[in-house]
Amino acid sequence: MTTIAIVGAGFSGTLLALHLLRRCPPPTRLILIERNSQFGRGLAYSTGNASHILNVPAGRMSAFHDRPDHFVTWLRERDAEGGNADPGAFVPRQVFGAYVRTLLNDEIKRSGRDRLELVRGLVTRIDRSSRPLTLTLDRDRTLNADFVVLASGNFPPEPMPVATPAFYDTPFYRPDPWAANALSDLAPDKAVLLIGTGLTTVDAVISLLDQGHQGAILALSRRGLLPRRHVSVPRPPPEHAPFPTALNLLTRSLRREAARAIAGGSSWQPVIDELRPFTVDLWQSMSLPDRRRFLRHLRPWWDVHRHRMAGAVADRIDAARARGQFRVLVGRVRDYAVGGDQVNVAYRPRGDERSATITVERVVNCSGPGADYERIGEPLFRNLLAEGVARPDPLRLGLDVTSNGALLDRSGAISRRLFAIGPVTKGTFWEMTAVPDIRRQAELLAEHLAGLVRNVAPAAVERTSHASEQGR
Ligand SMILES: Cc1cc2nc3c(=O)[nH]c(=O)nc-3n(C[C@H](O)[C@H](O)[C@H](O)COP(=O)(O)OP(=O)(O)OC[C@H]3O[C@@H](n4cnc5c(N)ncnc54)[C@H](O)[C@@H]3O)c2cc1C
Repeated sequence: MTTIAIVGAGFSGTLLALHLLRRCPPPTRLILIERNSQFGRGLAYSTGNASHILNVPAGRMSAFHDRPDHFVTWLRERDAEGGNADPGAFVPRQVFGAYVRTLLNDEIKRSGRDRLELVRGLVTRIDRSSRPLTLTLDRDRTLNADFVVLASGNFPPEPMPVATPAFYDTPFYRPDPWAANALSDLAPDKAVLLIGTGLTTVDAVISLLDQGHQGAILALSRRGLLPRRHVSVPRPPPEHAPFPTALNLLTRSLRREAARAIAGGSSWQPVIDELRPFTVDLWQSMSLPDRRRFLRHLRPWWDVHRHRMAGAVADRIDAARARGQFRVLVGRVRDYAVGGDQVNVAYRPRGDERSATITVERVVNCSGPGADYERIGEPLFRNLLAEGVARPDPLRLGLDVTSNGALLDRSGAISRRLFAIGPVTKGTFWEMTAVPDIRRQAELLAEHLAGLVRNVAPAAVERTSHASEQGR
C-alpha cells in the first residue's frame, strides 16, 4: 500500500486530494492533515464575514479547469445563502469555502474513509531519513507516508524593521490580520492604522465598516497604491506579437497594448487578464536579475492591477475615502512609541526626509502574506530548513521547488518524496496564489504523483499513532 500525506487542507491540499483519489487506484491511501477545525476552506475561505467577497468572478472560480461552469452550476443548484449564480458575480468567500468542503464530503462518501483520512493536527517535522517518511505532529503523534506534499498556504505578514521592535509585543499591535482578535475590542471611535494598502487592507476596512467603526482608518504603504476595481468590458482582439521576456520590453509592450485597448473604447483590465495563461512562462523565461528588478520596482503596480477589488467592495472603499474616514498615507514606518492608551507612529512620507507622526489606538499588520520561510517562525519550516531538507528559493518568495513541485534540499538535490503546491511554490511559478492557477497545478501534480506511485516499491507503512478528524 502507498500512502500520500498532504499537509494543509485549504484549497490546494483539498483539490490535490480529490485529483489524487481519481488517479491513484486502491490500495493507495491519502491522509489530509489540517491544524484548524475547518477542512477544505483554508485561510481565504474560512472568513465568517459575508462582506468578504471573492476577488475573482464566479465564472472563473470552478475547482476544475476543464469544467469552467462547475462552481456556477453548484451555486444554481444550491441557491441558498444569497449565492448569486451569475458567472460575472462576486460571491462571498465563505460560499466558495462551502463549495470546496462539499466537494471533499462527496469524495469521502465516494471513496470511503479507508482511502481518504482527515487528520486534525499541526505537522512540526518531517524525517526524510526514514523509509517511509515520518511526520511528527503536535501532541507527540507520528504518521508515516511514502510521499508528502506541503500545501501549507499563506502565513501572517512579517513585521517591518523599526527602531523599537518591543512595540510588537504590546497589545496595541496585531500581527495577524486574519486572526479573530485583529479588530476586536476596539472602541468604534478610535483611530486604526493598517500597515499595507493591498487586498488584506481592503478586507480590514470592510470588516471595520461592518462592525460600525466610526473612527479614522489610516493605511500606510511605501507607494500608497490601492487595488484597482474590476470592470466588465469587452476584450479588444489581442495582439499576436510574441511576448518579450526582457522586463523593460515586456513592460513597454503591455503599456502599448493597454493604451491601444483604452483608445479602442475598452480598458486596461482585459489586457492584464489576457496575460494570465502566460504568466508562469514569462516568469520562468525572465532572467534572475529581471525577476529581482520586477519585485523591487514593479511588484506593487502589478499587484494592484492584477488582484483587483469587486465593484461593490470598491464602492464602499471609495465612499469611506470620500467622507474622509479612510485615508491612505504614502511612506515608511520608522518607529512606534506608546503613550498612555495611544501609539504615536513616526513615519517618513515618501520623498520627504523629515518624519511625520500620527496617533492611533491600534496597529494591524496587513502587509501581505509572509514569504520568507526563515522568518515566519513555523516549527515545520524551521525544522525543514535547519535540517537541510528544504531551502528558500533565491528570491525568498517561498521554498525552492522544481517545475513538478519537488522540493530542492540545501545542496540543490531534488527530492523524490517531498513536494509542495500553492503559494509555497511562488518562487518557481510566481502566480501560484489564486484558484485558477492552483486548480491546474493540483491536477498536474496529481498526475505526476500518480506516475510515481505506479513505480514505487511498496514500503511497510505503519502508523504509530494518529487521531482522525472524526475522533476529535
Ligand atoms: C484573505 C485571502 C483572500 C483570498 N481571496 C481569493 C479569491 O477571492 N480568489 C482567489 O482565486 N484567490 C484568493 N486568495 C488566494 C488564495 O491564496 C488561494 O485562493 C487559495 O485559497 C490558497 O489555498 P492554500 O490551500 O494553498 O492555502 P491556505 O488557504 O492558506 O490553506 C493552507 C492550510 O494549511 C494549513 N497548515 C499550514 N501549515 C500546517 C501544518 N504545519 N500542519 C497542518 N496544517 C497546516 C493551514 O491551517 C491552512 O488551512 C485569497 C487569499 C487570501 C489570503
